Amino acid sequence: MQQFAAEVSRIQDLTHDVRAIELRLLEPIDITFKAGQFISFEVPKEGLPRPVTRPYSIASPPSQRGRILLILNLVQGGPGSNYLFGLREGSRTVFKGPAGAFYLRDDGARDLLFVATGTGVAPLYSMILAQLERASAQSVTLFWGLRSQRDLYLQEDLRALALAHPKFSFVTTLSQPEPGWEGVGGRVTTLIEQRIPTVTNLAVYLCGGSGMIKDVTAVLHAKGLCPIYREKYYDD
Ligand SMILES: Cc1cc2nc3c(=O)[nH]c(=O)nc-3n(C[C@H](O)[C@H](O)[C@H](O)COP(=O)(O)OP(=O)(O)OC[C@H]3O[C@@H](n4cnc5c(N)ncnc54)[C@H](O)[C@@H]3O)c2cc1C
Repeated sequence: MQQFAAEVSRIQDLTHDVRAIELRLLEPIDITFKAGQFISFEVPKEGLPRPVTRPYSIASPPSQRGRILLILNLVQGGPGSNYLFGLREGSRTVFKGPAGAFYLRDDGARDLLFVATGTGVAPLYSMILAQLERASAQSVTLFWGLRSQRDLYLQEDLRALALAHPKFSFVTTLSQPEPGWEGVGGRVTTLIEQRIPTVTNLAVYLCGGSGMIKDVTAVLHAKGLCPIYREKYYDD
């Protein structure tokens, strides 16, 4: 794995606890990676003599090589997310990468289904952008689970993407919507149960907590056989 020096070129608060951080690469000035791969930061952890390593997916597409985007949520007391949330525009940082076997494959004519919970959308966003750049014929669908209205982000970007690319569609579902929500409610597993009649022409990419990955895998298996690629962010 290569080491990179970078400068924080842009910070955007997407929700009360989710932030987009854009890194401009300084040395080397660009990176080659596959959509879905991650980079790692070594960060200090209180009470430990040595730093700990935390991986973060690249949310931007591989065609953008000089700047990469991270999308992450703040975990109370967590060394990795607190380190990254502590960076300011202009801050310098270093990371290693790219790494990871969760990346966009070529599954021929199979339609693509992406399923995320929370910031698990990050590598899928990179993959969706890369796939739409390929201009191939397969349909691209994203099912994304968030908790409630205050957790929504990227919705405008996804709507614009769907308008520009008729073969792309997405559904954001809220598991605990506040009153007044007129969109889809419930878990992503229910969406798959209800809206995916068969998986035989699908390749599926899952990213998020272990519970969602386990449940969605079981629902998909009950519908048939297809390639399923998974990235587990944490155990829940
Ligand atoms: C390959 C890979 C890629 C990742 N990419 C991203 C990414 O793009 N964006 C991102 O936000 N996170 C990502 N993560 C999770 C990230 O690496 C850290 O685990 C997370 O930021 C928490 O680290 P921490 O040091 O702040 O807290 P820790 O002290 O390590 O975490 C404390 C606990 O918080 C819980 N937790 C961890 N991650 C989350 C989360 N995202 N949401 C809710 N609870 C959590 C877990 O139960 C964990 O044990 C990725 C993980 C992996 C394995």
